[in-house]
Amino acid sequence: QAKAAGRRTFMRYDDAMDVATRQRATLSGALRKVLDRGELRLAFQPRLALADSRITGVEALLRWSSDEHGEIAPADFIPLAEESGLILEIGEWVLREACLTLRRWQQHGVGGLTVAVNVSVLQLLRGDFPEVVRRVLGDVGLAPEALELELTESVLMANAEQTAAKLQAFRAIGVSLAIDDFGTGYSSLAYLKRLPITTIKIDKAFIDDLSHDPEDAAITSTVITMAHSLGLNVVAEGVETEAQLRFLSQHRCDEIQGFWLAQPLDPHACLAFIRNWTQAQGAGRPLPAISP
Ligand code: C2E
Ligand code: MG
Ligand code: MG
Ligand code: MG
Repeated sequence: QAKAAGRRTFMRYDDAMDVATRQRATLSGALRKVLDRGELRLAFQPRLALADSRITGVEALLRWSSDEHGEIAPADFIPLAEESGLILEIGEWVLREACLTLRRWQQHGVGGLTVAVNVSVLQLLRGDFPEVVRRVLGDVGLAPEALELELTESVLMANAEQTAAKLQAFRAIGVSLAIDDFGTGYSSLAYLKRLPITTIKIDKAFIDDLSHDPEDAAITSTVITMAHSLGLNVVAEGVETEAQLRFLSQHRCDEIQGFWLAQPLDPHACLAFIRNWTQAQGAGRPLPAISP
């Protein structure tokens, strides 16, 4: 009854709401039910080490296929999930599902990979998140070394002191920490130096015009050099062309991720891709595309 009353109230004000607000309200409502309905899935996108052309791991990317609204991009629903606090529940589901998938692959004989999981600011600020991570790893039976958490610069800047302590707790567990979308925020490598980070992922925005824009090329090569001097692993995001690949290889970028290698794939397709790659490529040799 309360529900019906709520709906009547909503309808009455409906006309006054602009379309965007209405769509957001409808989506938030639908989002509330996604976990129960099983509408969420994970896609996995592989990462490649340039030095020896080995697949090093995958990034788990959330997908929502809504019965009512069709495919909805993470950029459109993750902000809503954050506003409503649902991201805590969804984020824990993502973490568990990602770890379970990697564990399953290990049981199918594909080992030595890491899985990277995107973490939202709300998850990080939650008091017991390191405990949640430890519990999930224990439940699934996955070694902490196989998990990397991806945090954006804004997440890290939001609450610098609290964040540093949190990050130490993750490192103490043994999971790796990556800065996602590096270069889009305001943090400097000097600031990052004080955090126990293991990897930085250079944002696609800098990779896109690498071959045409001398400034993006300069930024990228400088970031790689500075990151290496701080002992960090460097991943380039959104690599689509062989020209980008060659530039990154010449400038000693450690790993790449992007459509040049593979799109985000469903778990079965991704496992098949990794097996085929490993077989066809033969680990330990450089890619033909970047061999001198
Ligand atoms: P991100 O973590 O930076 O993920 C990389 C995004 O770039 C993904 O978009 C991926 O599909 C896309 N991408 C990868 N390679 C290429 C390429 O070569 N070309 C192009 N055009 N795109 C490429 P997606 O899956 O739409 O995710 C967007 C963002 O949503 C992610 O950016 C991440 O910030 C967020 N996100 C995704 N899954 C989760 C999640 O489980 N939790 C949280 N909190 N955020 C997530
Ligand atoms: Mg990411
Ligand atoms: Mg990114
Ligand atoms: Mg991005």
